[in-house]
Amino acid sequence: LLTPAELKALVRTIPDFPAEGIQFRDITTLIRHPRGMADSVRHLAAMAKSCGAQKIAGMEARGFIFGAAVAVELGIGFVPVRKPGKLPVETIGIDYALEYGTDRLEVDPSAIGDGENIVIVDDLIATGGTALAAAQLLRTAGAKVAHALFVIDLPDLGGADKLRGADVEVETLMEFE
Ligand code: IMP
Repeated sequence: LLTPAELKALVRTIPDFPAEGIQFRDITTLIRHPRGMADSVRHLAAMAKSCGAQKIAGMEARGFIFGAAVAVELGIGFVPVRKPGKLPVETIGIDYALEYGTDRLEVDPSAIGDGENIVIVDDLIATGGTALAAAQLLRTAGAKVAHALFVIDLPDLGGADKLRGADVEVETLMEFE
């Protein structure tokens, strides 16, 4: 397997996107590399397996890329955590604060068994607001959520600490300042 350091070298950094002063960590260069995609997924799948994952949940949209692949690798199901209005059934949702404004995530509650161990997967954790909202939503639907896995951590933004404060352990493949 490519090591996390080798995988980190495949991530592209785009200055001033989506706004001035932001260094955007772009995983598209990682996933278009055949071993970059496969080996990121294998590392994440090994982590999810040791967490005892019974299902994987991923947040729209980049969480679908890694989360779905991890679920396939482990032979378990995948639950999409979606932006508002996308699911064709009655959903439960959670509104959460962004730096500017609010956003909302929705899930189909019938996707989640009572007490089921669901591991969250996303590409990147920044402030942790998105992942915390997803964890709260999945818990409301009856899941046990104790672990969240990310390709990239931006530790200066404190997201992992925020999740740990809500009893969600965080593991990541790499960090960027
Ligand atoms: P948070 O809610 O502040 O932790 O932001 C995490 C969400 O924003 C994730 O779903 C990421 O996909 C996205 N995000 C924030 N910063 C970046 C970045 O530099 N590159 C890619 N995605 C990012």
